[in-house]
Amino acid sequence: MEVLQQARGWVEAASRIVVFTGAGISTDSGIPDFRGPNGLWTKNPAAEKASTLQHYLADPELRKLAWQNRLHSPAWEAQPNEAHRAVLKLETAGRLLALVTQNIDELHQKAGNDPAKVIEVHGTMHWTRCWECNDRRPMLSVLERVRAGEDDPPCELCGGVLKSDTISFGQALVPEVIDAALSAADRCDVLIAAGSSLSVFPAANVVPRAKNAGAKIVILNGEPTKMDRFADAVILGRLAETLPALCG
Ligand code: NAD
Repeated sequence: MEVLQQARGWVEAASRIVVFTGAGISTDSGIPDFRGPNGLWTKNPAAEKASTLQHYLADPELRKLAWQNRLHSPAWEAQPNEAHRAVLKLETAGRLLALVTQNIDELHQKAGNDPAKVIEVHGTMHWTRCWECNDRRPMLSVLERVRAGEDDPPCELCGGVLKSDTISFGQALVPEVIDAALSAADRCDVLIAAGSSLSVFPAANVVPRAKNAGAKIVILNGEPTKMDRFADAVILGRLAETLPALCG
Protein backbone atom coordinates (compact mmCIF):
# COMPACT_ATOMS: atom_id res chain seq x y z
CA MET A 1 0.00 0.00 0.00
CA GLU A 2 1.64 3.20 -1.21
CA VAL A 3 0.16 5.48 1.46
CA LEU A 4 1.35 3.14 4.21
CA GLN A 5 4.90 3.08 2.80
CA GLN A 6 4.98 6.84 2.61
CA ALA A 7 3.72 7.22 6.18
CA ARG A 8 6.23 4.62 7.35
CA GLY A 9 8.96 6.77 5.86
CA TRP A 10 7.77 9.79 7.88
CA VAL A 11 7.68 7.69 11.06
CA GLU A 12 11.19 6.31 10.45
CA ALA A 13 12.57 9.81 9.89
CA ALA A 14 10.82 11.36 12.91
CA SER A 15 12.40 11.99 16.29
CA ARG A 16 9.42 13.54 18.12
CA ILE A 17 6.34 11.42 17.52
CA VAL A 18 3.08 11.95 19.35
CA VAL A 19 0.67 9.03 19.33
CA PHE A 20 -2.96 9.83 20.12
CA THR A 21 -5.13 6.81 20.86
CA GLY A 22 -8.83 6.16 21.33
CA ALA A 23 -11.07 3.30 22.31
CA GLY A 24 -10.50 1.52 18.96
CA ILE A 25 -7.00 0.44 19.98
CA SER A 26 -8.44 -1.65 22.81
CA THR A 27 -11.33 -3.38 21.04
CA ASP A 28 -9.02 -6.25 20.05
CA SER A 29 -8.25 -6.60 23.76
CA GLY A 30 -11.96 -7.24 24.38
CA ILE A 31 -13.02 -3.74 25.52
CA PRO A 32 -15.84 -2.34 23.35
CA ASP A 33 -15.62 1.25 22.07
CA PHE A 34 -18.51 3.74 22.18
CA ARG A 35 -19.15 4.77 18.58
CA GLY A 36 -17.66 2.03 16.38
CA PRO A 37 -19.92 -0.46 14.53
CA ASN A 38 -20.05 -2.66 17.69
CA GLY A 39 -19.80 0.26 20.11
CA LEU A 40 -21.68 0.40 23.41
CA TRP A 41 -23.55 3.55 22.36
CA THR A 42 -24.11 2.39 18.78
CA LYS A 43 -25.94 -0.64 20.19
CA ASN A 44 -27.59 1.13 23.12
CA PRO A 45 -27.84 4.92 22.81
CA ALA A 46 -29.31 5.16 26.36
CA ALA A 47 -25.94 4.03 27.77
CA GLU A 48 -24.54 7.49 27.01
CA LYS A 49 -26.52 8.83 29.99
CA ALA A 50 -24.35 7.01 32.54
CA SER A 51 -21.30 8.84 31.15
CA THR A 52 -22.88 12.26 31.69
CA LEU A 53 -21.86 13.89 34.97
CA GLN A 54 -25.13 15.67 35.67
CA HIS A 55 -27.17 12.44 35.39
CA TYR A 56 -24.62 10.40 37.35
CA LEU A 57 -24.62 12.81 40.30
CA ALA A 58 -28.40 13.24 40.34
CA ASP A 59 -29.58 9.66 39.90
CA PRO A 60 -28.74 6.92 42.46
CA GLU A 61 -30.34 4.26 40.22
CA LEU A 62 -27.99 5.22 37.39
CA ARG A 63 -25.04 5.00 39.78
CA LYS A 64 -26.06 1.50 40.91
CA LEU A 65 -26.07 0.46 37.27
CA ALA A 66 -22.71 2.14 36.72
CA TRP A 67 -21.16 0.23 39.65
CA GLN A 68 -22.47 -3.07 38.25
CA ASN A 69 -21.01 -2.17 34.84
CA ARG A 70 -17.65 -1.38 36.46
CA LEU A 71 -17.72 -4.63 38.43
CA HIS A 72 -18.29 -6.66 35.26
CA SER A 73 -16.09 -4.64 32.91
CA PRO A 74 -13.92 -6.70 30.55
CA ALA A 75 -11.15 -4.16 31.20
CA TRP A 76 -10.02 -5.87 34.43
CA GLU A 77 -8.91 -8.99 32.54
CA ALA A 78 -7.86 -7.26 29.31
CA GLN A 79 -4.33 -7.61 27.97
CA PRO A 80 -2.56 -5.30 25.51
CA ASN A 81 -2.71 -6.37 21.85
CA GLU A 82 -0.39 -6.02 18.84
CA ALA A 83 -1.45 -2.40 18.34
CA HIS A 84 -0.40 -1.40 21.89
CA ARG A 85 2.90 -3.24 21.39
CA ALA A 86 3.53 -1.37 18.13
CA VAL A 87 3.27 1.93 20.02
CA LEU A 88 5.73 0.62 22.62
CA LYS A 89 8.25 0.06 19.81
CA LEU A 90 8.33 3.79 19.08
CA GLU A 91 9.22 4.48 22.71
CA THR A 92 11.87 1.75 22.77
CA ALA A 93 13.38 3.34 19.66
CA GLY A 94 13.57 6.68 21.55
CA ARG A 95 11.27 8.47 19.12
CA LEU A 96 8.11 8.85 21.19
CA LEU A 97 7.63 12.37 22.54
CA ALA A 98 4.29 11.59 24.19
CA LEU A 99 1.49 9.06 24.16
CA VAL A 100 -1.76 10.96 24.54
CA THR A 101 -4.66 8.63 25.20
CA GLN A 102 -8.37 9.10 25.65
CA ASN A 103 -8.50 5.58 27.03
CA ILE A 104 -9.08 4.92 30.67
CA ASP A 105 -7.97 1.27 30.65
CA GLU A 106 -4.20 1.69 31.35
CA LEU A 107 -3.36 -0.87 28.63
CA HIS A 108 -0.53 1.32 27.30
CA GLN A 109 1.19 1.20 30.69
CA LYS A 110 0.48 -2.55 30.88
CA ALA A 111 2.13 -2.96 27.45
CA GLY A 112 5.28 -1.41 28.93
CA ASN A 113 5.09 2.27 28.01
CA ASP A 114 6.67 4.53 30.63
CA PRO A 115 3.78 6.04 32.67
CA ALA A 116 5.62 9.37 32.45
CA LYS A 117 5.08 9.32 28.67
CA VAL A 118 1.37 8.52 28.92
CA ILE A 119 -0.97 11.50 29.12
CA GLU A 120 -4.43 10.26 30.11
CA VAL A 121 -6.64 13.14 29.04
CA HIS A 122 -9.82 11.41 30.21
CA GLY A 123 -8.44 9.92 33.42
CA THR A 124 -8.31 6.31 34.55
CA MET A 125 -10.91 3.73 35.55
CA HIS A 126 -8.38 2.14 37.92
CA TRP A 127 -9.01 4.81 40.56
CA THR A 128 -12.07 6.38 42.15
CA ARG A 129 -12.49 10.00 43.17
CA CYS A 130 -14.92 11.51 45.64
CA TRP A 131 -16.98 14.25 44.02
CA GLU A 132 -17.13 16.16 47.36
CA CYS A 133 -13.68 15.88 48.99
CA ASN A 134 -11.54 14.65 46.06
CA ASP A 135 -10.26 11.61 48.00
CA ARG A 136 -8.73 9.09 45.57
CA ARG A 137 -8.72 5.30 46.11
CA PRO A 138 -7.87 2.25 44.02
CA MET A 139 -11.00 1.17 42.13
CA LEU A 140 -10.53 -2.50 43.03
CA SER A 141 -10.86 -1.73 46.77
CA VAL A 142 -14.18 0.05 46.15
CA LEU A 143 -15.40 -2.76 43.88
CA GLU A 144 -14.81 -5.12 46.84
CA ARG A 145 -17.41 -3.06 48.74
CA VAL A 146 -19.85 -3.38 45.81
CA ARG A 147 -19.25 -7.13 45.76
CA ALA A 148 -19.95 -7.21 49.49
CA GLY A 149 -23.38 -5.63 48.96
CA GLU A 150 -23.01 -1.81 48.81
CA ASP A 151 -24.80 -0.96 45.57
CA ASP A 152 -23.77 2.75 45.54
CA PRO A 153 -20.75 3.00 47.86
CA PRO A 154 -20.25 6.50 49.31
CA CYS A 155 -16.90 8.10 50.14
CA GLU A 156 -15.52 6.58 53.37
CA LEU A 157 -14.19 9.96 54.49
CA CYS A 158 -17.06 12.37 53.84
CA GLY A 159 -20.01 10.33 52.54
CA GLY A 160 -19.90 12.06 49.14
CA VAL A 161 -20.68 10.51 45.77
CA LEU A 162 -17.89 8.35 44.36
CA LYS A 163 -17.18 7.96 40.68
CA SER A 164 -14.37 6.52 38.65
CA ASP A 165 -11.51 9.00 38.23
CA THR A 166 -12.44 9.58 34.61
CA ILE A 167 -13.76 12.63 32.81
CA SER A 168 -17.49 12.31 32.22
CA PHE A 169 -19.35 14.35 29.64
CA GLY A 170 -20.12 17.71 31.22
CA GLN A 171 -17.03 17.51 33.43
CA ALA A 172 -14.05 19.82 33.00
CA LEU A 173 -10.75 18.28 31.97
CA VAL A 174 -7.74 18.63 34.26
CA PRO A 175 -6.08 21.80 32.88
CA GLU A 176 -2.45 20.64 33.33
CA VAL A 177 -3.20 17.32 31.62
CA ILE A 178 -4.90 18.68 28.50
CA ASP A 179 -2.27 21.47 28.35
CA ALA A 180 0.51 18.85 28.37
CA ALA A 181 -1.25 16.98 25.53
CA LEU A 182 -1.73 20.06 23.38
CA SER A 183 1.79 21.30 24.04
CA ALA A 184 3.22 17.93 22.94
CA ALA A 185 1.12 18.24 19.76
CA ASP A 186 2.70 21.67 19.18
CA ARG A 187 6.19 20.16 19.37
CA CYS A 188 5.89 16.91 17.38
CA ASP A 189 7.12 16.14 13.88
CA VAL A 190 4.62 13.31 13.29
CA LEU A 191 1.24 12.80 14.92
CA ILE A 192 -0.31 9.35 14.71
CA ALA A 193 -4.02 9.23 15.65
CA ALA A 194 -5.18 5.64 16.11
CA GLY A 195 -8.59 4.19 16.96
CA SER A 196 -10.51 7.36 17.64
CA SER A 197 -13.56 8.81 15.95
CA LEU A 198 -11.83 12.16 16.72
CA SER A 199 -15.15 13.60 17.83
CA VAL A 200 -14.52 14.34 21.52
CA PHE A 201 -13.18 17.81 22.29
CA PRO A 202 -10.90 19.35 23.35
CA ALA A 203 -8.86 16.10 23.18
CA ALA A 204 -9.26 15.78 19.40
CA ASN A 205 -7.73 19.22 18.99
CA VAL A 206 -4.31 17.57 19.17
CA VAL A 207 -4.80 16.88 15.44
CA PRO A 208 -5.25 20.47 14.18
CA ARG A 209 -2.67 21.69 16.73
CA ALA A 210 -0.04 19.31 15.36
CA LYS A 211 -1.04 20.18 11.80
CA ASN A 212 -0.60 23.91 12.54
CA ALA A 213 2.83 23.17 13.98
CA GLY A 214 3.86 21.59 10.68
CA ALA A 215 3.73 17.92 11.72
CA LYS A 216 2.74 15.12 9.35
CA ILE A 217 -0.66 13.74 10.38
CA VAL A 218 -1.28 10.00 10.03
CA ILE A 219 -4.77 8.76 10.93
CA LEU A 220 -5.39 5.03 11.41
CA ASN A 221 -8.90 3.80 12.01
CA GLY A 222 -11.43 1.22 10.88
CA GLU A 223 -13.67 3.85 9.31
CA PRO A 224 -13.42 7.53 8.30
CA THR A 225 -13.00 10.03 11.17
CA LYS A 226 -14.15 13.60 11.70
CA MET A 227 -10.63 14.86 11.02
CA ASP A 228 -9.53 13.02 7.92
CA ARG A 229 -9.35 16.39 6.14
CA PHE A 230 -6.28 17.28 8.26
CA ALA A 231 -4.47 14.04 7.46
CA ASP A 232 -1.45 13.61 5.22
CA ALA A 233 -2.22 9.89 5.26
CA VAL A 234 -5.37 7.99 6.20
CA ILE A 235 -4.86 4.27 6.73
CA LEU A 236 -8.03 2.22 7.05
CA GLY A 237 -7.97 -1.23 8.61
CA ARG A 238 -7.65 -3.18 11.85
CA LEU A 239 -5.17 -1.49 14.18
CA ALA A 240 -3.63 -4.78 15.27
CA GLU A 241 -2.43 -5.01 11.65
CA THR A 242 -2.00 -1.39 10.51
CA LEU A 243 -0.09 -0.04 13.56
CA PRO A 244 2.60 -2.76 13.50
CA ALA A 245 2.90 -2.20 9.73
CA LEU A 246 3.40 1.53 10.33
CA CYS A 247 5.69 1.37 13.38
CA GLY A 248 7.57 -1.78 12.38
P1 NAD B 1 -15.00 6.15 19.76
O1 NAD B 1 -15.81 5.00 20.29
O2 NAD B 1 -15.68 7.41 19.50
O3 NAD B 1 -14.28 5.72 18.39
C1 NAD B 1 -13.54 4.53 18.26
C2 NAD B 1 -13.14 4.39 16.80
O4 NAD B 1 -12.28 3.25 16.68
C3 NAD B 1 -14.33 4.13 15.86
O5 NAD B 1 -14.27 5.02 14.76
C4 NAD B 1 -14.15 2.67 15.42
O6 NAD B 1 -14.58 2.43 14.11
C5 NAD B 1 -12.67 2.48 15.56
N1 NAD B 1 -12.24 1.09 15.84
C6 NAD B 1 -12.77 0.24 16.75
N2 NAD B 1 -12.06 -0.91 16.77
C7 NAD B 1 -11.08 -0.79 15.83
C8 NAD B 1 -10.04 -1.65 15.38
N3 NAD B 1 -9.83 -2.85 15.92
N4 NAD B 1 -9.23 -1.20 14.39
C9 NAD B 1 -9.42 0.04 13.83
N5 NAD B 1 -10.38 0.89 14.23
C10 NAD B 1 -11.21 0.48 15.22
O7 NAD B 1 -13.78 6.33 20.78
P2 NAD B 1 -12.91 7.61 21.14
O8 NAD B 1 -12.70 8.46 19.93
O9 NAD B 1 -11.78 7.12 21.94
O10 NAD B 1 -13.83 8.51 22.08
C11 NAD B 1 -14.68 7.95 23.04
C12 NAD B 1 -14.43 8.17 24.50
O11 NAD B 1 -14.65 6.88 25.00
C13 NAD B 1 -13.07 8.52 25.00
O12 NAD B 1 -13.19 9.62 25.79
C14 NAD B 1 -12.64 7.35 25.92
O13 NAD B 1 -12.30 7.82 27.20
C15 NAD B 1 -13.87 6.53 26.11
N6 NAD B 1 -13.71 5.05 26.05
C16 NAD B 1 -12.56 4.44 26.45
C17 NAD B 1 -12.44 3.06 26.38
C18 NAD B 1 -11.15 2.42 26.83
O14 NAD B 1 -10.48 2.96 27.71
N7 NAD B 1 -10.76 1.29 26.25
C19 NAD B 1 -13.50 2.29 25.89
C20 NAD B 1 -14.69 2.95 25.49
C21 NAD B 1 -14.77 4.34 25.57
